[in-house]
Amino acid sequence: AGRLQDKVAIVTGAGSSGPGWGNGKAASVLFAREGARVVCVDLNESAAEETAGIIREEGHDALAIRADVANHDDVKSVVDRTVGHFGRVDVLHNNVGIVEVGGPVEASEESWDRVMNVNLKSMFLTCKYVLPIMQKQKGGAIVNVSSIAGIRWTGVPYISYSASKSGALQFTRSVALQYASDGVRANSILPGLMNTPMIVEPLKEVYAAGDIEKMIEIRDQQCPMGRMGDAWDVAYAALFLASDEAKYVTATELVVDGGITGK
Ligand code: NAD
Repeated sequence: AGRLQDKVAIVTGAGSSGPGWGNGKAASVLFAREGARVVCVDLNESAAEETAGIIREEGHDALAIRADVANHDDVKSVVDRTVGHFGRVDVLHNNVGIVEVGGPVEASEESWDRVMNVNLKSMFLTCKYVLPIMQKQKGGAIVNVSSIAGIRWTGVPYISYSASKSGALQFTRSVALQYASDGVRANSILPGLMNTPMIVEPLKEVYAAGDIEKMIEIRDQQCPMGRMGDAWDVAYAALFLASDEAKYVTATELVVDGGITGK
């Protein structure tokens, strides 16, 4: 049996914002390989479909749903459709995240609101509808994606991103403690510098005037392990926290950064 055998998992941001593997896409495919039925949620319908398609091609069950995780009605409908289709929710992987560069002076108010809504309010909305279900089931695992940018300066001013990722940590601990006696666990993952579409595109302008190879080289050098991580490194951490192997792990954080924060 797989490590998530017969569990139903919702993954937000299950597509990729560019070519290659984003964290949510990798986690969705990995969860399915481990026996989960996966609900792939993304704002980009074709990206959600693409991930669900990979899962189905490998012979597993997946449902693709287009939704804006910052929109209340969209999120409610994701949870309703998941329960309608699969009957339960065992894993909620709040993976979605966007980054917009700028400090308090440079960033617009709209940018601040957008990032806070997609990264943090989305957790509030998904939990609002998933927690009562998990409570009734007397079990469930919530895995929220934060970032090392939520606990330290990374050299790039993206104030809304840092604040949202910091907020995600205490949000997660608070949920974990409130629901610990219901058998519902909640933990955060803090990825470091991962070579995913998200990190490459928006930071193009910040590093070496659009020279992506150069940027990746600079980022690699910042990592004690000498290279950036990838989406699978984050996905395996999410798999552990989502699975029953982590049944005594709650209200904590798992850093996946190749040693950056250990320095
Ligand atoms: P990605 O950009 O490749 O994928 C994110 C997906 O989310 C995209 O498919 C996008 O369409 C979707 N999305 C965006 N806004 C949405 C919305 N409003 N509703 C629904 N879906 C929406 O990103 P990634 O690099 O795989 O990052 C995934 C998570 O990992 C994010 O939370 C990110 O902050 C976190 N993270 C990434 C890194 C890194 O270095 N890549 C580091 C730390 C944390």
